[in-house]
Amino acid sequence: MNNGPFPSELEPAAGPGADSATARLQGVRGRIAAAAARAGRDPASVELLAVSKAFGAAAVRALAGAGQRAFGENYLQEALVKQAALADLALDWHFIGPIQSNKTRPIAENFGWVHSVDRLKIAQRLSAQRPLGLPPLNVCIEVNVSGEASKGGASPDALPELVEAVARLPGLRLRGMMTIPAPTHDFDAQRAAFRRLRELFDGLRERHALDTMSMGMSADLEAAILEGATIVRVGTALFGERKYPR
Ligand SMILES: *Cc1c(COP(=O)(O)O)cnc(C)c1O
Repeated sequence: MNNGPFPSELEPAAGPGADSATARLQGVRGRIAAAAARAGRDPASVELLAVSKAFGAAAVRALAGAGQRAFGENYLQEALVKQAALADLALDWHFIGPIQSNKTRPIAENFGWVHSVDRLKIAQRLSAQRPLGLPPLNVCIEVNVSGEASKGGASPDALPELVEAVARLPGLRLRGMMTIPAPTHDFDAQRAAFRRLRELFDGLRERHALDTMSMGMSADLEAAILEGATIVRVGTALFGERKYPR
């Protein structure tokens, strides 16, 4: 359901125009720089992934014009339409949504990164379907750190075995982990969830060359950066409120 076609009754929103895209991008980069400074980290160690779901190609183009290169999408059909409309731009596309096994081929063919691998079957299919002419697909394993039953992501218990198996797949390059914790406005609770991912990450790094923690969104990117995020995935703070739910 989550990975189904873009809801046809809703046109992708136009999003902010060029001037406002620059201002929003500067605002988010300022937040990243301030959080990195507080964490004693180089701001360049945190990559900004602009999550463009629910916004159309014009909004992506405006942000690209302001200097943004990496874009994240959750829904395959919606993403493919945008990629076709923006084929003249050199953009990096990251798939961050739930993955149905019958949708892995176009994901393997059209994205450079996938953040939402949460089971071996999906990883095996992405690896087998990655075109030989392309570099291995960069992947993160999504981990359910909050233990919410309704949510996707591998359980922390299942992670070591999954990491072992995914790291061996030739079409993939395992980069690290991604998480979407239960939403909370409590800063310490935000940090505690991200710290959980960092501890899992640090433990697995003894055996694997991992370099990516994809964590933090518009409402909690500061907490994520303090806990070591290397990619923050930001939608609302760059594009405005979405017209369909997350
Ligand atoms: C929508 C989405 C985001 C962006 O969320 P915002 O709160 O709008 O910044 C980040 N990551 C994932 C996986 C998402 O689905």
